[in-house]
Amino acid sequence: MNSRIVYGPLLSRRLGRSLGVDVIKNAGSKKNCNYDCIYCQLGHVESKLKSPEDVKEAVTPEEVSESFQKFNKDIENLDYTTFSGTCEPSLNLSLGEMVQGIKKISRVPVCVITNSSLVGREDVRKNLAQADLVVATLVSGNENTWRRIHRPAPGIALQEIIEGLRELAKAGAGKKLALEVMFLESETGKPLNSTDEEVEKLVQTIRYICPDEIEVLTVSRPPAEKWVKPVSEERLREIAKRFVSEFGDEKVRLVLKGKNKRGKVLHRDPEEEVYALLLRRPCTFEQTWQGLSMGPGRLSPVLEKLLGEGKIEKIDTETGEYYRAK
Ligand code: SF4
Repeated sequence: MNSRIVYGPLLSRRLGRSLGVDVIKNAGSKKNCNYDCIYCQLGHVESKLKSPEDVKEAVTPEEVSESFQKFNKDIENLDYTTFSGTCEPSLNLSLGEMVQGIKKISRVPVCVITNSSLVGREDVRKNLAQADLVVATLVSGNENTWRRIHRPAPGIALQEIIEGLRELAKAGAGKKLALEVMFLESETGKPLNSTDEEVEKLVQTIRYICPDEIEVLTVSRPPAEKWVKPVSEERLREIAKRFVSEFGDEKVRLVLKGKNKRGKVLHRDPEEEVYALLLRRPCTFEQTWQGLSMGPGRLSPVLEKLLGEGKIEKIDTETGEYYRAK
């Protein structure tokens, strides 16, 4: 099944309603990344990419603009165009050109969600700086914890990432850098990065980086490792409070629930649209119809057909029943 470059719209807890852009073709693999995070909603990476130079099926800026132009006109009421999906967007070195191309077509702000792995590179920082908002992951200020959670490809080091994020924050000039801090526990209730000690190290690291915003959240979709569990809302609130005391109320966002904003979408190929969304993001029935503005009655037969054809599967988790592409 064709998995388009531009997909969605999808609802997210952080960005509201956005259109997704994937910048590496996923013909050979369900995921193109240089990390293999224990919390990844896309499952295990089959073979980790080491660098942008390793990418074989990079999408071109022309392909992005063409795909965006076709799809964008069918959709109303978007909050963002977001580069994310089945790959780490900064692995495509034409990312900056792609962002510029989309900005020529649409006034909707552009966000890039990055795992931060390559921000030590100046060319990658220049690309990221084209976006209105960069949401960059930082799970720990300690190398060992960071490695345990992300399981990065060889050659990636936390200290280079921290320096790169600091440079990106300095580049500013009307652009925004938000650090996304995902807190996790293990099955036994043992914290992975949410102990007081880890939180204090994060405070110190974030102070050094000086971002515009800090997002505090926990895992909500089925993780790659079954033993990974969300941190309780009570603990998340405590951590957010500590961050607020250090960085101020206006900089800290505690991300707990998604928005339910809706808008019109003209569905030209509902099966392909549902599959393209579930390939990038496992969703519950409700999240799927709300994100795609499809209506539950219209979505049901589409899901049944995709299930029957073996293209998607249903998975049960503590947070509900999810559909995802196989
Ligand atoms: S969560 Fe993101 S960064 Fe981590 S392995 Fe999955 S796609 Fe890569």
